[in-house]
Amino acid sequence: MKQMIQQQEEPIKARKRKNRLKEDSINQVFAEVILGRPSAKCKHLGICKITSVHTTRLNGFSSDSCNNCNKVYALISAKGKAFFEVAFLKSSIDKNVLDQHFKDAIFKVEESYTTDKAFMDTAVTIKTGIYTATITETFITVRFDIH
Ligand SMILES: [Zn+2]
Repeated sequence: MKQMIQQQEEPIKARKRKNRLKEDSINQVFAEVILGRPSAKCKHLGICKITSVHTTRLNGFSSDSCNNCNKVYALISAKGKAFFEVAFLKSSIDKNVLDQHFKDAIFKVEESYTTDKAFMDTAVTIKTGIYTATITETFITVRFDIH
């Protein structure tokens, strides 16, 4: 009986640690993401622009300089310059965009992109690279390398 209690204590401690991390350190923002290469007017692969949905509404929903066909929605979880994860909302992605940008569960960033300082606490640069996407029923999640 004593042994059983000890076994149960460990997962509870682990859970508490996890909750604390989430509350104190990770920011979550619902964002509008325009896919594509910033210098190529959203053509090719990568991230052209990230804005919080709140900011976007104030500015009138769409971006003048971007191809708004490549616009998707995502829940972004970030912690300073340490962690940046984008959970793209699958239902907001057209099939042709899905085929182009998330083919074979790979998300490619051809050109680095730096977020606006106002988007989160600090400006974050998403590095170029080939990232593996995790696909679930609702989200396509990509954890980016940043600096
Ligand atoms: Zn663009």
